[in-house]
Amino acid sequence: MKISKALKFLALLPLCAPASATPRHSPWPGGVAIVPIQSDTRPAVMVNNNPVLVIRENDRWVAIVGIPLDHESEAPIVATLIRAGGESEQVRIDLQAADYPVQRFNVESKYVAPDQESLDRIAAERIVIDQALTRWRVNDVKEVMLKSPVPGARSSSFGSRRIFNDQPRSPHKGMDIAAASGTPILAPLSGVVSATGDYYFNGNTVILDHGQGYISLFCHLSVIDVVEGQDITVGDLLGKVGATGRVTGAHLHFATYLNGTAVDPALFFETN
Ligand SMILES: [Zn+2]
Repeated sequence: MKISKALKFLALLPLCAPASATPRHSPWPGGVAIVPIQSDTRPAVMVNNNPVLVIRENDRWVAIVGIPLDHESEAPIVATLIRAGGESEQVRIDLQAADYPVQRFNVESKYVAPDQESLDRIAAERIVIDQALTRWRVNDVKEVMLKSPVPGARSSSFGSRRIFNDQPRSPHKGMDIAAASGTPILAPLSGVVSATGDYYFNGNTVILDHGQGYISLFCHLSVIDVVEGQDITVGDLLGKVGATGRVTGAHLHFATYLNGTAVDPALFFETN
């Protein structure tokens, strides 16, 4: 009798479960789609030939699919689920339109019309950065929600169409967090440092691999306090806020990537 009462009590526990383990379903360009999957064993999920992050949530598996910012909202995303034994299934994810604002900035002309030497440098850095954003460990990921890397107001400027010195440039693929130069930047989640560097546009940069294609990027640092290959625990010091690279002032540019595409970091904070 006592056992059955205890079981009843346990069955009620999910009602008072803590904050969610996954972002909310946000099916638009730059968002994330949450796809629950019933499967006894871990399924594999692919989108555009990229493996997708799959985590265990309560009694089910959940795929967290990053939706490219430049994906037309009229066209669905098609994910392929592959269960143990090779049986596969296509899942269609319908998207909603996203309406991102326009932002204008004035920066030094070298950031809008770089000379040939700088263009060569930018091209070489692009390869290094792209590699760090598209290669990852295939470890078991237990957590995806983030702690704020610095205190301060988190802008909602992800996705905004950017115009520098009256010239259109690629959209903003992260969030900017206002903070004074020298403010410590703390790891928002455990991971491994997959790259560090001083890049033309991004300035001093740290890239963290959280596993299964979940990657975070920290730019414009004044100081980098980690090295490539270093194991990082949530809360570890990564570096300090600065104003290196293409900036109009000190701030942290913070970006998150899933299955090789930038997604809105705000979706991974409990209080967005
Ligand atoms: Zn930024």
